[in-house]
Amino acid sequence: MDKAQTVYKKDEFRDRLGIVSKEGKRKWVYPKKPKGKFYLYRTILSFFLLSFLIGTPFVKYHNEPLFLFNVIDRKFILFGSAFGPHDFFLMLVAMLVLVVSIVLFTVVYGRVFCGWICPQTIFMEMVFRKIEYWIEGDSSKQKALKISSWNKEKIIKKSAKQLIFFSISFLISNVFLSWIIGVDKLFAIATDPPREHLAGLIAILAFSSAFYGVFAWLREQACILICPYGRLQGVLLDQNSIVIAYDYKRGEPRGKIKKNLKEQTKGDCVDCNLCVDVCPTGIDIRNGTQLECINCTACIDACNAVMSKINKPKGLIRYASAKAIKNSFRLSFLSARVIGYTLVLIVLVTILLTLALTRSQIDVSILRTPGLISQQQPDNKISNLYDIKITNKTFANIPLELKLNEPNGEIKIVSNQLLIKPQEILESKFFVVLPKETLKEIVTPLTINVYSNGKKVDAIHTSFMRQVDQ
Ligand code: SF4
Ligand code: SF4
Repeated sequence: MDKAQTVYKKDEFRDRLGIVSKEGKRKWVYPKKPKGKFYLYRTILSFFLLSFLIGTPFVKYHNEPLFLFNVIDRKFILFGSAFGPHDFFLMLVAMLVLVVSIVLFTVVYGRVFCGWICPQTIFMEMVFRKIEYWIEGDSSKQKALKISSWNKEKIIKKSAKQLIFFSISFLISNVFLSWIIGVDKLFAIATDPPREHLAGLIAILAFSSAFYGVFAWLREQACILICPYGRLQGVLLDQNSIVIAYDYKRGEPRGKIKKNLKEQTKGDCVDCNLCVDVCPTGIDIRNGTQLECINCTACIDACNAVMSKINKPKGLIRYASAKAIKNSFRLSFLSARVIGYTLVLIVLVTILLTLALTRSQIDVSILRTPGLISQQQPDNKISNLYDIKITNKTFANIPLELKLNEPNGEIKIVSNQLLIKPQEILESKFFVVLPKETLKEIVTPLTINVYSNGKKVDAIHTSFMRQVDQ
């Protein structure tokens, strides 16, 4: 540990949580309203992400949702392609790629996801917190309202806020359900008599209450104490990870600017505490990277505003790695490490998307029925019996037709037709009948073409057997 770091480094802060008082009670966080470049960018991005979240369930492709994650019925749709239990292998690969991607992404970019994309942060900071500022005012006014007696103003403000919070939670619950069961089913729950959709109504109320509890009461605790991704940061981050960091080399020793001094002896941090005041998780980033930091950038904006006022360069708190701060170099987002990890991430995601989007819509397997020998047929012909198993991965009925490619012969399906219902598996049997003169060997290779609506969708290679004396 170098000298400058030693000056400010007081590790006692690691012994307690910023949101818990000495008595062990919760310390309610009243963050000051952030403003600045990063807050503006996050607001704009949140607008697009929220529009995507709310609008996407209404987008249909071939009369089905573009995305659906129906875990109850095990029905999943990605980019209009249906996935079900038969895609277990693909799901397994997807889970592996997801885990590896999360690890790689975090090792390089730290908690960028938490600050910019995570729905918890977006709803908390960009929806609920903004409403709170609008109704109750900035942090000092909120604190004053909290300790004031229950007068008319307090009752109106508090009840209006809670009512709006619950209404938004109800909306969020509907939005999330529309991703799970689809907008059509959701609409049916809303319009049909309640007794027809009791389970759906209970789910909506349960989700609404859960969201209300998270955003009105739990808040930053969801990130600090509950979120598994947040808890994993300690093992995922290293000295090179990009985090929101305080430049202690530049900032320390901190202290107020003394106007009458010609030469300042302090670092650039004027100890105004604004970076702490705006922090929604109640931490002091000057203590170093902490598990509670959700990379919301509020402290960057606050500190940059201070630096502008005192005519110092911005970036005392900035996106940087611990190593970059320690060795006083400016972090480059185009370093070999960042580019390398990002390329690996792109390759992984591309492989997954290619696997998912190029997989066949139907699976056909054909096997000669075990235990059966060939049968003698009229007109000097011989037949073999086959088992066919077809998996329909789409949401449409698929009619199939089998045709012998080689040699010349006939296919007789035991059931009348091969019509596979959406997301179902059909098992059937059929005979292949061949003229004796085409069977030169005991085993003759066969190719059976599979057609759907006149279009060849598969070609299955199997074999035909005759007995020695036939
Ligand atoms: S906002 Fe900047 S100057 Fe003010 S205390 Fe924080 S780091 Fe120091
Ligand atoms: S330390 Fe800064 S980036 Fe981290 S949560 Fe607090 S305000 Fe946000």
